[in-house]
Amino acid sequence: MKPSEALIADAQRLLTQNYRQQPIVLTRGEGCRVWDVDGRAYLDMHAGLAVSVLGHAHPRLTAAIAAQAGRLLHVSNIFFIEQQIRLAARLLQRTFAKRVFFCNSGGEANEAALKIARRYWHTVRGDAARVELVSCHNSFHGRTIATVSATGQEKYRSGFGPLWEYVCFVPFGDLEAAREALSPRAFAMLVEPIQAEGGIVVPPPGYFAGLRKLCDESGALLILDEVQTGMGRTGTFLAHEAENIVPDVATVAKGLAGGVPIGAMLCSEEVAKGFSPGSHASTFGGNPLACAAALAVLDVLEEERLIERGREMGEVLRQGLSRVAAAHADKCIGVRGRGLLLGLMLRGDAPAVVERCRERGLLVSVVGGTVIRFAPPLIVGRTEIDEALSILDAALG
Ligand SMILES: *Cc1c(COP(=O)(O)O)cnc(C)c1O
Repeated sequence: MKPSEALIADAQRLLTQNYRQQPIVLTRGEGCRVWDVDGRAYLDMHAGLAVSVLGHAHPRLTAAIAAQAGRLLHVSNIFFIEQQIRLAARLLQRTFAKRVFFCNSGGEANEAALKIARRYWHTVRGDAARVELVSCHNSFHGRTIATVSATGQEKYRSGFGPLWEYVCFVPFGDLEAAREALSPRAFAMLVEPIQAEGGIVVPPPGYFAGLRKLCDESGALLILDEVQTGMGRTGTFLAHEAENIVPDVATVAKGLAGGVPIGAMLCSEEVAKGFSPGSHASTFGGNPLACAAALAVLDVLEEERLIERGREMGEVLRQGLSRVAAAHADKCIGVRGRGLLLGLMLRGDAPAVVERCRERGLLVSVVGGTVIRFAPPLIVGRTEIDEALSILDAALG
């Protein structure tokens, strides 16, 4: 029996069976490459679900984590935390936001966004009638009860009812539907710049400018879920920068600390008034280790100009994927996405293609049933992209 087989058998016996897992056990990584416990190497175009922006075992990130762990791993937010304060300054300097709250995941960042928006209307504006959230069909916002309630896909909701009922779903990209839903009862609209889990769906040009205007007219806050699209993934630090709009709130998580769990809720000075001492908290949120890791990620992003580089490599990957799609037009529809968040749309059966890629040494994942997601580390280079494309070509053949 291979080492992986024994581990997988244990996993099936010991863990709650809530994941649909590819049958490998990864144990080590370097750059865009990972190795499994059986000694096989893989090219990683999944990056831990768009998390490992610096790839694996980046020396700067490893050193920052080790140094911080040797000094101070954790203290609670009943004291001030230097790394958290320094990270806040860096994030606010790079974004629209004036204040930030730190937590541990994307779902928690969205929870914080929903909570501050609700409390803003209650305590700052004194409008208790604003009880409705507008969200989009086909969206994904997390796995907590509130974020599942705000998620517009049945597969994430089923079996968990009754959910938070004050959510009105509208089609993504449809401004007319948003106009109707954004009534004086709406406290906020929650929306992803690009629907990632929904299948890398890019809205029509002008959608976000239109939403901004509609939210201004109705008074509802505009909350952008940048958990997957943030941290340079789509070619700008936050994806909405490409839309020339300013949201009221934006959430980030996945890539923020390059693999150490962290989340952040970024907001305007006005919305920040929604929280007061005691109104929200997190035991681990913004702890010294996670914040030191995020600071190292920001340093490397800036020094190695990884966002610009990712934009270029995204174009290389997009063109390559388009060529492969054209060569296999019987199986592929085309490519969509932005930067290094790209989806190859298939006519059917994405899991089978993902399996054939893995057997040939390429790790990718399925989103929206029929789309193969490419979300490599932002350090990815041309030779790795070429290698991934030739494996994909073989897997489709
Ligand atoms: C991954 C993701 C989440 C949830 O993040 P967790 O860290 O798993 O809680 C929320 N929104 C979007 C857009 C995501 O991609």
